[in-house]
This record gives sequence, structure tokens and C-alpha cells, in this order.
Amino acid sequence: MSPLGAPGAGERQRVLSGFRPTGPMHIGHLVGALDNWIRLQDTHECFFAICDWHALTSEYADTSPIRGYVLDMALDWLAAGLDPDRCTIFVQSQVPEHAELHLLLSMIVPIAWLERVPTYKEQQQQMAHRDLTNYGFLGYPVLQAADILIYRAERVPVGEDQIAHLELCREIARRFNSLYGEVFPEPQALTTRVPRVPGTDGRKMSKSYGNAVNLGDPLPETRQKILRMVTDPARKTRKDAGNPDVCPVYDLHKAFSDRETLDLVNTECRRAGFGCIDCKNHLLRHLEPVLQPIQERRARLQIDRDAVRAILAEGARRARAEAALTMKRVRAAMKIDSGLPG
Ligand code: SF4
Repeated sequence: MSPLGAPGAGERQRVLSGFRPTGPMHIGHLVGALDNWIRLQDTHECFFAICDWHALTSEYADTSPIRGYVLDMALDWLAAGLDPDRCTIFVQSQVPEHAELHLLLSMIVPIAWLERVPTYKEQQQQMAHRDLTNYGFLGYPVLQAADILIYRAERVPVGEDQIAHLELCREIARRFNSLYGEVFPEPQALTTRVPRVPGTDGRKMSKSYGNAVNLGDPLPETRQKILRMVTDPARKTRKDAGNPDVCPVYDLHKAFSDRETLDLVNTECRRAGFGCIDCKNHLLRHLEPVLQPIQERRARLQIDRDAVRAILAEGARRARAEAALTMKRVRAAMKIDSGLPG
């Protein structure tokens, strides 16, 4: 490692990513993040966080389900193929250094930086049924910056909607370094092209819309969800020709089916050669073999939840060792290590 903790030539770059445990993982998460993480664990030094404190920013009024979601999320990640021998999987609240760094960073972040984050107002509008005027929700991107900077991560896999948060994190790192001296590398975005994964109603797949196909859904339930999924609204009967370009089922084909099937759907839909049920059965033919092994691994892991807890404990131990190293440097740079013993 270099003095700042960034890897030297030949070392693997460090990656940080995570999710809020606010509900079950779905196939949108699989295609949009987990598949990418599984590849990254062979090429990068990866830290994957289950961000339970982030869940509190919106779920503070009823925290009772979060504990269950945390363990379910770990099950989903492991079942999808994350390997605790090749990456570090941990729960954010088991590494209290995140909170300490968040507090210190919050001293140097102008409120205007947070108010201008595009997702701040958007999410307040989208979740109008919740009171999101709380300080924690405004400060969410500072906690997110702490999550990244505490590991001196150089790379952060991001979707389009997270780019503004990462830019803010880079600004915070720059401000810290200019005030107190170089401690943090500026993390770079790791962008991958991810196919659009619509939910069963055609909107973005999301737990809050109730349109998700979850990784843990039994296969008969998945089948029912896909068979009921909305299609090209202009295709009212089997005899009407359709347009795959406006059909959310075709978006799922693009995420899961092979070239041959895509060509078949493109041709047969446009000339009303087959019906939407046939088309969805072709999709299921590709989707089910992806989900089945995940569910089998998940069922095995579910029997031994103590083993999953042990993986999380070991992950937290590894993460804490790195976080403690960063905090030592941060306290020294800010001159808030009192010099007293302890
Ligand atoms: S045939 Fe397939 S692509 Fe065409 S409208 Fe029906 S579900 Fe959509």
C-alpha cells in the first residue's frame, strides 16, 4: 500500500458497494448489481456492505423488519454467488467507525451541497407517504461518503442515479484533503452497462411499487408474476401485431434470453406469429434456470443461519481492521487525537 492507502502497481484496486436492507432482493438487483459484484470479486479487493443505518433514514419509525432484511440480504448475496473467501461482506452497524467518520465529515460539508443532490427532492416526492424532513435523510450522502472513504476505496460501482452521490463524495474527499492533508483517495466510478429491468407493471422494478420478481420467490410464484406481466398495450388480442420495443417483457428478454430468442420474439411479435403467453414462456425458459440454483443455494444456507451470521461477523472483523486504520489517520490529520492514553 502507498502512504495514503491506495494500492501500488500490481495490487488490486479496492471497491466498496452496498445496499439498504429495506426489503427482498429482486431480479433487477441481480442484473443491475450482483452479477457485476460477482465478477469484481475476482479482479478487485471488494467490500460489500449491508447498510442498515441507511435503511433508518427512511424507515426510522418502524425499525422492526430491518433485522430480518439484513439476514435475508446476506442469504441472497451468498446464494447469488458472492464468496466470503474472495470478498468482505459485512453489516454497516457492526463497524461503528462509519458513524465516527460520518460525524467528522458532517462538520465540513456545506448544507447547500446536500440540498442540491437531485435524488434528495425526488425521493421526498416519491415517498410522500413518509416524513422525510429529518436530518438523517438530508445527510444520507455524507454517510454514504463515509462508507466509501473509510475503506479508502478507489472504485465504486454506480448506476446513473448514483453518479451525483459519488461526485459529492469526491468533493468531500477533496475538501477534507485540502483542509487537513491528504488522507483519502478520490473514488472513481466503475460504470457497467446494465439492461433495463422493468417490474411486472412496466415501471422500474421496485419493492415499493409491488411489481418485483424477488430472488426468493418460489418458482411457481415467479411464473405467475411473469404470466400476468403487462405487455405492449396496443396488442389487445392474439391477432394484433405487437411492438417489442415498447414492451417491458421484451426488456426482460434482453436481460435474460439468448440472441436466438430475441430474434424470434422480434419477428413473431411483430407479425402476430405467437401470443404473449408463448413469448412469456420463452422468457421463463431462460429466467428459471438462472433463479433455480440461487434458490437451491439459498435453501441450504437458510438451514444454517448461524453459518451466515459467522460470515458476517468475520466480514465485520476484516472491515473494522481497515476502518480503524483510516480513523487513526483521520484523527491525526484533524488533530483530535488527544495524545492521552486510550
Ligand atoms: S409477444 Fe412478447 S414482446 Fe410482443 S407484446 Fe407480447 S409479451 Fe411483448
